[in-house]
Amino acid sequence: MGRLVMKFGGTSVANIDRIRNVALHVKREVDAGHDVAVVVSAMAGKTNELVEWCREASAMHDAREYDAVVASGEQVTAGLLSIALQAIGIQARSWQGWQIPIKTSDAHASARILEIDGSELINRFRERKEVAVIAGFQGINPQTGRITTLGRGGSDTSAVAMAAAIHADRCDIYTDVDGVYTTDPRVVPKARRLDRIAFEDMLELASQGAKVLQVRSVELGMVHNMPIFVRSSFDKPEDIDPYANQPPGTLICSEEEIMESHVVTGIAFSKDEAQISVRQIQDKPGVAASIFGPLAEANINVDMIVQNVSDDGRHTDLTFTVQSADLDRALEVLRKAKDSIGYLDLRGSTDIAKVSAIGVGMRSHAGVAAQMFSALAEKGINIEAISTSEIKISVLIDAAYAELAVRTLHSLFGLDSR
Ligand code: ADP
Ligand code: ASP
Ligand code: MG
Repeated sequence: MGRLVMKFGGTSVANIDRIRNVALHVKREVDAGHDVAVVVSAMAGKTNELVEWCREASAMHDAREYDAVVASGEQVTAGLLSIALQAIGIQARSWQGWQIPIKTSDAHASARILEIDGSELINRFRERKEVAVIAGFQGINPQTGRITTLGRGGSDTSAVAMAAAIHADRCDIYTDVDGVYTTDPRVVPKARRLDRIAFEDMLELASQGAKVLQVRSVELGMVHNMPIFVRSSFDKPEDIDPYANQPPGTLICSEEEIMESHVVTGIAFSKDEAQISVRQIQDKPGVAASIFGPLAEANINVDMIVQNVSDDGRHTDLTFTVQSADLDRALEVLRKAKDSIGYLDLRGSTDIAKVSAIGVGMRSHAGVAAQMFSALAEKGINIEAISTSEIKISVLIDAAYAELAVRTLHSLFGLDSR
């Protein structure tokens, strides 16, 4: 007997039939004797609809009210799943973020979890064998008492944080694919499912665009050394043996627990970035600070940065990327700061993609970047910017070539399934 968190994403709770199917997955684990806390997302498409409504109401809406609106999707599914569980004879109760409470920072729309009190849920496991059905994605800021949300994909983070708070043995993430693949299986049919992946690799894959897990959930898993198991909610509940050591899926665990060793573990890509070029700035100390200072003040994160070599020794160009969602705001900030920066021309574009090769194996391997650049060159793909870390190489390319680049690198590093 153990204690489990089971998280179900949007497609897994998309309608009442699927919610009934989820209830059967939960029943299986309850019948096996486990204490179970379930974390649910909003029904597929619901959060997008709510976000769109906020934009329609006003482009410059108050983030506190945005959170009041978008948190509602998860409230509905938590209630519905509790009803479905009760209907099959399982004791269950729904919980919203504020009821537990899941305390967060006040950074509305991208709040961070600060503290969770799991004691009431644990009491109820002991006293009543009651399943807790928790609305993912949301929390409460203790100072203001207002509802917060954790950023898109945040239910993964709710699940891992809950798992740590109730001292669960494992956090199961049920989704619409049966595990973590070497790249997005919807883009590359030859992608291979990984039996295990190290926290570090998963963290980098997620931060470079693999949306199967929210980045923060992997960080929390790593901090608490909480095993995270990614699996499919579409497997038939009755076909699964709850006592089996490892059903199909991917275990995210510490590096020491991984037997297989590859130099490159996976390829990630993101089309959510935008490129900004500031042309004809003076090539002198302080110019970069005059550009990135105001952006930082506006809370805009900058990712890749390239500064061209100056032709005349006096002027140069600076190109960098931001999240597409921040593009308009970033351009506005730079227009306002034009006099202090002193540039001739400013341009923004969203026709770019970032493609990254990731692997903890790169730490002990030279030459990965060179291989990557020549394979892309052979396909006629131009690289506009590069950034690297110990376990990652990212290139910025024209968005039209994103899929070709991902497939090329996937084959190059021996990741294709046979
Ligand atoms: P959920 O609604 O269950 O949270 P998401 O849509 O957020 O599901 O995440 C699952 C999706 O992540 C998959 O459908 C898949 O297209 C995508 N994905 C991207 N990269 C990967 C990867 N490396 N392995 C598995 N899935 C990936
Ligand atoms: N419903 C939220 C979203 O779509 C949270 C989640 O599904 O993880 O972003
Ligand atoms: Mg998700």
